[in-house]
Amino acid sequence: MALKIWLDKGLVDEADARISVFDHGLLYGDGVFEGIRVYGGRIFESEAHVRRLFESARAIRLPMPLPRAELVDAMEATVKANAVQDGYIRLVVTRGVGTLGLNPFTCKRSNLFIIADKIQLYPEELYEKGMKVISATTVRNHPLAIPPQVKSLNYLNNILAKIEALDSNVPEAIMYNHEGYVAEATGDNVFIVRNNVIYVPPVEAGSLEGVTRAVVIRLARKEGLEIVEKNLTRCDLYVCDEFFLTGTAAEVIGVVQIDGRTIGTGTVGSVTRLLREKFYRYARGQEQP
Ligand code: PMP
Repeated sequence: MALKIWLDKGLVDEADARISVFDHGLLYGDGVFEGIRVYGGRIFESEAHVRRLFESARAIRLPMPLPRAELVDAMEATVKANAVQDGYIRLVVTRGVGTLGLNPFTCKRSNLFIIADKIQLYPEELYEKGMKVISATTVRNHPLAIPPQVKSLNYLNNILAKIEALDSNVPEAIMYNHEGYVAEATGDNVFIVRNNVIYVPPVEAGSLEGVTRAVVIRLARKEGLEIVEKNLTRCDLYVCDEFFLTGTAAEVIGVVQIDGRTIGTGTVGSVTRLLREKFYRYARGQEQP
C-alpha cells in the first residue's frame, strides 16, 4: 500500500514526495535525521529523539523548519495517516535546495520529510542464539572532525564498516576510535558485562548518544546493576562475560562471537536476557521507567 509522507507542511502521497537533485542533503549529505520506534501506536521516547534532532541541527547550523511541538504533531499525524501500530519513523531534515557549491547558506529553506512504515527487525532466532560481529578496520570518525553525537545524513564512515561486516558474513561490525578504544557498532551502541558489572564506552569515545542506550542504563540501575562508563579496548571485548548492542531497531541484542572468538559461554548471558526483557516490556508500556 502506498504510504502518506509528511513533506514540509503536510501529508502527500508517496509518489508526490519528491526532493530536488539540488538539495544539499543529497549533494553533500548535509542534514540530520532520527529513527524512532512506534509501539502500540505510541511514539517511543519522543522527547529524547526530538531533543537529539534539535541538538544535531544546532551543531551544524541547520535551521529547523518547525518548532518542537509542531514537529511532534507532524510525526503523530504521519503515524496516524499510515495506521502504524508497531513500526518505525524516519524523520529527515536536509539543508534544502541550493546552488552546486558547498556553501550551505545558498540553501534558503531546510526540507523536512517524515516516513512512518513497518520495521525490518533481525530474525527472532538471532536474539535467541546471539549475533556474531567483527572488529572493523575502518576507524570511527575523529570526534573533532565529524562529531559522532551529530546524527547527520553522512553515514559513509558507518557504511564502510558495515561493508566489512557483510563481507565477513556477519551483520554488524564494532568500530574503534582513532586511539583504538571501542566507539560503537555501525548502527548500535556497545555494552559488555564482566563480573556482573556492566561497562559502556563513554559517548566521547565516538558514539552517538543512543536513546536506547540511555533507557537501558536507566533500567539496569533500577535493577540494582552496577554500570561503569569507561574506555574499552578490543581485549576487553574478547575477555568479557557478556556482550550486547542497543539501538532503536535492534532494541537489545546479545553478541556471542567477535573476530571468531567466543564471548563467555557462547550463549546470550543472563544480564543481557534480563535487560532485553525489561526493555521489551518498558517499550510496550508494560513496565514503569
Ligand atoms: N549509533 C549509531 C551510529 C546509530 O545510527 C544509532 C541509531 N541507529 C545508534 C548508535 C543507536 O541509537 P538509538 O538507540 O538512539 O537508536
